[in-house]
Amino acid sequence: MEKKLAHVGIAVKSLEVSVPLYAQLFPQEKVGIEEVPDQGVRVAFFRTGTCSIELTEATTRSSPIAKFIGKRGEGVHHLSFEVDDLPAELARLAAAGFRLIDDKPRTGAGGHLIAFLHPSSTNGVLIELCQKSGER
Ligand code: ZN
Repeated sequence: MEKKLAHVGIAVKSLEVSVPLYAQLFPQEKVGIEEVPDQGVRVAFFRTGTCSIELTEATTRSSPIAKFIGKRGEGVHHLSFEVDDLPAELARLAAAGFRLIDDKPRTGAGGHLIAFLHPSSTNGVLIELCQKSGER
């Protein structure tokens, strides 16, 4: 199953500060900002041709993004790859010995199904798999 890079997630302290900055890098008419209460984050998407940049800001102190920034500072947080059948891919990876953060898909930004693999089984890189539902 081939995977397409869907977006690169970047952890930021403040969308207020970072959105105008990235809007200069990647000019576009409108920047979509969305709250994902389930994960305690607000995200802003910038289209960059073949994939997107997802700026992610923590909205709660217990958010994984708040913990990430506390430990490592702002920066690249995860890579997101698109798959056709997320449950099947999670089952395949679990059987292959990968450690999963989410053994079942959950709902992420845009209503898409997402699941994270644990960075301890992917050389320290947090990888998100997503299965698109509908448009975007
Ligand atoms: Zn993401």
